[in-house]
Amino acid sequence: MYASSGRTYTAIPGPSVIPDRVLNAMHRASPDIYSTELRDLTSGLIDDLKGLVRTKGEAAIYIANGHGAWEASVSNLFSRGDTVLVLETGLFANGWGGFASALGVNVETIDFGMRSDVDCERLAETLKQDSDGRIKAVLTVHVDTASSVRNDITAISKAIQAAGHPALLLVDCIASLACDDFQMDEWGADVVLAASQKGLMLAPGLAFVFFNQRALQAGRSADLRTPYWDWQRRVDPDEFYQRFCGTAPTSLLFGLHESLQMLIHEEGLASVFERHERLARAIWSAVGMWGQGGPLEFNIPDPSKRSHAVTAIRAGPPYGSKLRDWVSRNAGLNLGIGLGMSTPEDSEATGSFRIGHMGHINPHMILGALASIEAGFEAIGYRRGRGALEAAAAECGLKDSGQPLA
Ligand SMILES: *Cc1c(COP(=O)(O)O)cnc(C)c1O
Repeated sequence: MYASSGRTYTAIPGPSVIPDRVLNAMHRASPDIYSTELRDLTSGLIDDLKGLVRTKGEAAIYIANGHGAWEASVSNLFSRGDTVLVLETGLFANGWGGFASALGVNVETIDFGMRSDVDCERLAETLKQDSDGRIKAVLTVHVDTASSVRNDITAISKAIQAAGHPALLLVDCIASLACDDFQMDEWGADVVLAASQKGLMLAPGLAFVFFNQRALQAGRSADLRTPYWDWQRRVDPDEFYQRFCGTAPTSLLFGLHESLQMLIHEEGLASVFERHERLARAIWSAVGMWGQGGPLEFNIPDPSKRSHAVTAIRAGPPYGSKLRDWVSRNAGLNLGIGLGMSTPEDSEATGSFRIGHMGHINPHMILGALASIEAGFEAIGYRRGRGALEAAAAECGLKDSGQPLA
């Protein structure tokens, strides 16, 4: 109907909305890749990225997407026949484990299902049974983009320590970086993965792998290391080109500089995290009200375990798909599909949808998305409670402290 005019809002959990400033920063001719400008720019970016994940460790940048970060971590740390433990709380830790398995690593998995976070007691039991320390690493996601659960990384790290187990802790922060607070050193993660196209508000194409000295040591004998993924040369290059194992991704670096400028040096990380939390709460209050008068439910019932960057919602088949179709055709809003939500009764997962609320978002985008969903529900005849938009608007008018905005 009207969706071809105005701006489309792609509210899927990545790639996220790219700010005009970031697009403009990328729109320039390639610089001399041997210039000091590019060298200085890159070292500044690395400092900022380390500040973002709060680590004194190393940061390697790859020209890759998130899957590349997965492969980079496996390649640098393991040898064929090593064993890792995957903690599955949705879809993405298994994806990572699948890469490890394809490369010859032995993968053991604890599956916590689609609707809950990691149960640290089960983790501790498994680690205690591994008395000869076969498990080299524990692989987990901070936020699983399919289930929208957020795992408690400190609790996982403490469980590994309490079991007296030497396994490294590897964390995929691809969906959470720059949306939810993350403190790599403080929380006890040894390796952290991220990518450019979610909270960092950039196009896909850059992957980041952060690692500490423990991980560096553990990976010294890795026989899966290949020249392109080798992190050692990237963080300690003899020549600048080795940082990227070839030509630097110039446009993406200019874009990243602009996005880090906006997030760290202008808005400030505390405010970035508070904004994500506030807007997530606005969405949750709307979903809560809709659910009071009909079958709509959160995939993750406990709000303290929900991501601030993506929310997975169960509407019941076929209403998730019907809603997504309606809002994309009529409102210029794209919602995420129900990933990993298929069941024997609903093999295409038509009952679920996800709202991506990561990166360059503000109240009018979120309130507009929620009002479009309300219109969509009305149009497809979906039974639901009233008052969702009022509840979301009220939430947008609050500070983090719960006080009204001045
Ligand atoms: C998006 C995502 C990935 C995969 O990233 P790609 O860039 O699509 O390869 C991996 N893990 C998580 C948690 C993600 O959200």
